[in-house]
Amino acid sequence: MKYQELVDIYSALEATTKRLEKTSIIAEYLKKLDEDTIGKVGLLLRGGVFPAWSSEEIGIGTKLVERAVAEAVGTTQSKVEDAVRDNGDIGLACIELYSKKSQTTFFSQPLTIDFVFKSLQKLSKITGSKSTNRKISILLELLSQASASEAKYLTRTITEELRIGVGDGVVRDGIAQAFNIDKKIVERAQMLTNDFSVVARTALLEGEEGLSKLNLTPGTPVKPMLAQLSPPVAEIIPEMGTAICETKYDGIRLQVHRNGDEINIFTRRLENITHALPEIVDLFNEHLPHEDYIVEGEVIATRDGKPLPFQNILHRVRRKYNVEEAMENVPLKLFLFDVLYYEIPMIDNPLIERRQTLEEIVDTSVDEMNLSTMIIATQDNIPEVEELFETSISAQHEGIMIKDASQPYIPGIRGKKMLKYKAEPETLDMIIVGGTYGIGKRGDFIGSYLVALRDENDDFKTVAYAATGLDDATLEYLTGKMKEIEISTKGREIVVEPKIVLEIAFSEIVESPEYETGYSLRFPVVKNIRKDKGPGDVDTVERLLSMYESR
Ligand code: ATP
Repeated sequence: MKYQELVDIYSALEATTKRLEKTSIIAEYLKKLDEDTIGKVGLLLRGGVFPAWSSEEIGIGTKLVERAVAEAVGTTQSKVEDAVRDNGDIGLACIELYSKKSQTTFFSQPLTIDFVFKSLQKLSKITGSKSTNRKISILLELLSQASASEAKYLTRTITEELRIGVGDGVVRDGIAQAFNIDKKIVERAQMLTNDFSVVARTALLEGEEGLSKLNLTPGTPVKPMLAQLSPPVAEIIPEMGTAICETKYDGIRLQVHRNGDEINIFTRRLENITHALPEIVDLFNEHLPHEDYIVEGEVIATRDGKPLPFQNILHRVRRKYNVEEAMENVPLKLFLFDVLYYEIPMIDNPLIERRQTLEEIVDTSVDEMNLSTMIIATQDNIPEVEELFETSISAQHEGIMIKDASQPYIPGIRGKKMLKYKAEPETLDMIIVGGTYGIGKRGDFIGSYLVALRDENDDFKTVAYAATGLDDATLEYLTGKMKEIEISTKGREIVVEPKIVLEIAFSEIVESPEYETGYSLRFPVVKNIRKDKGPGDVDTVERLLSMYESR
């Protein structure tokens, strides 16, 4: 199957903003594919070659792609950089550069989807000495055979910014329409596997029945269920009927999988951090039976028994070397709060049953292994919930979680069945898409950051400039990081690839035609650089709107 055909589909998708049209374009195309190609296309449509659960990535920086494009079209790297700056995008720069291409490739064969897919996967595996040369040679093999439009989407795929306005929802609906399957079943299959190659292939081969059978597998992480902000306790508890209220710990959420003898630990971004937490692996080996399972909890760093700020645990899990030393300096404590799988999938069981299973299986006789502190609340004991909040805050935790006891676990959803009640005002996680250099003495630093939220197609829409909350060292750090991912700079304005996530506090949301969302923030303050989050974790425009409406 020719890559050019997929490229024509990308162009058609990019050319329309209408969701139904996008869905039909995808559906019609998927129907034409064989079982091998459809799996690859399932991933390529979302701009990648690895399933969402995988922590593998193509891992090629913009500069290397620009160098390969320069060689492929027979020009200099600085000319390519100019074209990227002028066009604001490497893909459009390729259209311009390929039209002026001075070298023609003789005996070139058309690129196939299979070849492109395998080459891109290969790129992620190249490490060690001479890796740059080997990467360039793979990139060249692709780019020198590519047409202008193929180069446009190849370079965008490699830099992980496809920009065709296709999110998970459209791919899901496309698969449902192509094979006449209920959307909800496709959605559930995707939620449980996090792998569009499996979902698309199963839909083609086994239809609705096959998709319904897909389920959680220990070893393959699932997106966590997320929380919304809670209304006042006295209002929400009677609405829920029975709630499980727990201390909200300020650490890192872990999803721990046992599959046979193997234990794997994943973050909420589905990143595998097993290597950084050997003592947690030991805890699970010693204090949870050797059945296959998936459990979730929060791990916090402690000193003299007291919780340390969130940044401490972040440093701990980011560590690649000297893990032993860090283990001594930053002792960890685990608080488990859910079980998704124990011998069999459990996510459809009500939370109250899952909690009971957790209590039965976990040995909490050591200090490091705990279940979250919790109470069962109804409208009859609301003061106890308030007391739990007070004791949690005075023990330096973040607040409480309020969870509907009757509900299943719904991966990846920020719904009304799991709520958070915090002492601190709410913040939003936003991505940096650009910035402005300071003036005078501060001319070397980017002092103001253009931040954006995610729309339903996973495109980023700007919402504010944030310029307060950061000390000089952090400004310097951010400026350095942004230069590494620079797309273009004009005067004092820089445009960057959307990679860095900031947690932003603000006093108010206001309407504003100046920003792409149509809204902006009053007094935005940067609270944190969220190194634990990536583009997929950025808060949505929809969330901003619901906050705007509820304030
Ligand atoms: P925040 O920055 O407020 O933690 P978030 O976007 O990281 O927000 P939310 O879904 O908003 O995540 O809040 C839930 C998070 O709180 C969970 O992801 C988990 O990391 C953490 N947490 C701490 N204690 C608990 C608990 N007892 N039950 C569930 N989650 C908990």
